[in-house]
Amino acid sequence: MDDLLYGTRNKRGDWSPRQHPEVAFFWSRPLDLRAWGKFLIGYIWPWNAFHVAVTLLYWNVLLPDWDTMKTLSWSWVLWLYMVNGIGIFLIYGSIEAIYYWKRKQGTRFKYNAKFPSEQPSDVFWFKSQNIDNFLRTYLSGIVFWTLVEVILLWTFANGYVPWLSWAQNPYYLALLVFLTPMIHEVHFFLIHRLIHTPFLYKWVHSVHHNSVNPSPWSSLSMHPLETFLYHAVALWHLVIPSNPLIGLLQLNMAGYGALNGHIGFDKLELTDDATLDSHAYIHYLHHKYFEVNYGGDGLIPLDQWFGTWHDGSKEGRERMEARYAKKVARMNKASTEVPR
Ligand SMILES: [Zn+2]
Ligand SMILES: [Zn+2]
Repeated sequence: MDDLLYGTRNKRGDWSPRQHPEVAFFWSRPLDLRAWGKFLIGYIWPWNAFHVAVTLLYWNVLLPDWDTMKTLSWSWVLWLYMVNGIGIFLIYGSIEAIYYWKRKQGTRFKYNAKFPSEQPSDVFWFKSQNIDNFLRTYLSGIVFWTLVEVILLWTFANGYVPWLSWAQNPYYLALLVFLTPMIHEVHFFLIHRLIHTPFLYKWVHSVHHNSVNPSPWSSLSMHPLETFLYHAVALWHLVIPSNPLIGLLQLNMAGYGALNGHIGFDKLELTDDATLDSHAYIHYLHHKYFEVNYGGDGLIPLDQWFGTWHDGSKEGRERMEARYAKKVARMNKASTEVPR
């Protein structure tokens, strides 16, 4: 497929989309019914439908029974770690294998023309982004994801929080399912903004940002504190009246959904004329420029409200540069002021 029909490529070979991502339409046109139809299809298909399907598989087949989960024990905790680990290996691993290892579509639709394996660096374990990211995914990312999962399931199993039934609360719970991507986005923005404060950035979040040119294995390559805070989005379902199935969906959306921002390609070519949109561009720009796009795709446009939105356009870049210039001026002023 000709990616230049959809975007442009610079001298370095980096590709960027011609159509810039936009925040969700309903913030400006809430009554546009046609736009609602189009939005809902994209909202559900394919990524959130995938998260629901994975969660139903967990719920019906993979979760230990609720009596077992009343008591903490290594056997079911390690089982859940293994389930998550294998799930991630299958999903992230297959995208990595097809598009990064086999390079099925070369650099078509790829934001950064280079592949991480071509860029060894001292910041990574064994100087390899792939090995570093893979090991951190299994030694940190999935460990603390599983910890959150254990807290969630154990609390519900023991009846420490209300367990709303589908029979008695169908509309409320359906609404809660509908809101899960929005809860995700707000939670992610808040914890992400927090770990970009200087101290936490240096000691925690810089681990994730070592991957300036992310690939699927970068998604969960995080410091333990970051992966805990990130997956803790599911613990909101211990605070708001909910059902563990929705808590689990919220968790899988974080764990499996972390992939989206780190695919590195705008579209994955599935067949000669079918592609899958990755929704990776906004978070790719975050990895590239660090201080823009703390949230997601603009479902809840927090970045726009706080002035940190960068959609890849000329205006977006000018906004970012003006903000940096202001920051530098502030820092220079602070360093030249003589205390009296
Ligand atoms: Zn990232
Ligand atoms: Zn960040």
